Amino acid sequence: MTTHERPYDVIVAGLGAMGSATVYALTRGQGHSRRVLGIDRFSPPHSLGSSHGRTRIIREAYFEHPTYVPIVRRAFDLWHELEVTTGRTLYTRTRGLTLGAEDGMLARGARESAEQFDVPHRVLSAAEVTREFPGLEPTGEMVGVLEDRAGVLFPEDCIAAMLGVAERSGAELRRNEIVVAWEETGNGVVVKTTAGEYRAARLVIAGGAWMPQLVPELAGTLAVERQPIHWFVPSSDSDYYSAARCPVTLWEYARDRTFYTLPDFGDGLKAAVHYEGQSVDPDHVNRASSPDEAARIAELLRCFMPKAEWQLRESSVCLYTNTPDLHFIIDRHPSHAGRVVVVSACSGHGFKFAAAIGEIAADLVTDATPRFDLDMFRMTRFQLRA
Ligand SMILES: Cc1cc2nc3c(=O)[nH]c(=O)nc-3n(C[C@H](O)[C@H](O)[C@H](O)COP(=O)(O)OP(=O)(O)OC[C@H]3O[C@@H](n4cnc5c(N)ncnc54)[C@H](O)[C@@H]3O)c2cc1C
Repeated sequence: MTTHERPYDVIVAGLGAMGSATVYALTRGQGHSRRVLGIDRFSPPHSLGSSHGRTRIIREAYFEHPTYVPIVRRAFDLWHELEVTTGRTLYTRTRGLTLGAEDGMLARGARESAEQFDVPHRVLSAAEVTREFPGLEPTGEMVGVLEDRAGVLFPEDCIAAMLGVAERSGAELRRNEIVVAWEETGNGVVVKTTAGEYRAARLVIAGGAWMPQLVPELAGTLAVERQPIHWFVPSSDSDYYSAARCPVTLWEYARDRTFYTLPDFGDGLKAAVHYEGQSVDPDHVNRASSPDEAARIAELLRCFMPKAEWQLRESSVCLYTNTPDLHFIIDRHPSHAGRVVVVSACSGHGFKFAAAIGEIAADLVTDATPRFDLDMFRMTRFQLRA
């Protein structure tokens, strides 16, 4: 066991979406002046947490709550800046459609956010949706909220880009090293890993599905949910479903029940049910998807995207880390407020915000004033374990 005597300014535990964005934000524009250490139990980007599967939806007419709209706007800017810095394509615009009953959670929520923040959008009847996107056939009572800037992020590339820039700016990254414990000391924090012990002035914890192990106060509050995802190849008229012709789409196919589809980028149309998965322990997840799980999605595609026969090409399993109200946790740790910041319980919809959440975490941990109202994301809104 090695003890590293020279303290870091900040240690970031977990280098998935939120952690990689945090080390990126902490080193951005700092030259090599800030000493930052990032640690991950695997080698990100990897496929064992919540940030794999090649694509993520980014959208602005946010049905979940209007509070997210300014944050996703900042994220759009930061993703673009990262693309310019690295010369990589991290985002592709496809447009976005939120479909469901007019008074349902999705269509109503998307409309409210769009109206409150002047997000350019159009509300389409089911027939208008099919006219504009012939591959989509919502039922007669559905309406669609169509937004222009929505599209797809490439999560593995985003994480690799953020970690690459951070490393070039002086961050030290340790991969395949597990944080097993941390404690606040008189003048900082000590972080113990499977390889050594590190000291820092401050700590950011971004452990995704493993958050309850790193922040035991959250055990019993957070639920980790197994989420199968599937890629289907359309057997005919595939062009209806290509990224050039088909928007990312959220479907409220029954009251409060959602599935989503992302267009074909050459590897098939991606589709999954949102929530409704099994609660799991992240250390013991069945990573194989069952034929029944794929059949359920195929049935939804046959119903709402019937212009093709759908052949299953690939499945994967990913993890959501849900809070009881499905909003995020982005906060100073209530018992270690001067030293420790907690991010990364993003309830299955966090990736699009990662660049902005990393910046917020960096603000919180360096005592800068956060640029957004974070009231909704406080840890103490839940009954924490003593
Ligand atoms: C199937 C699926 C589809 C999704 N679709 C979308 C979408 O379309 N749009 C969207 O915005 N969001 C989407 N999300 C949600 C989004 O991807 C997640 O909210 C986000 O990726 C979570 O990031 P994270 O940093 O919290 O977790 P992760 O990216 O999983 O990072 C956590 C990291 O912590 C590390 N770690 C854990 N414990 C330790 C430890 N003890 N020591 C060291 N390292 C540790 C892990 O190895 C991991 O790398 C989706 C999620 C899933 C699963």
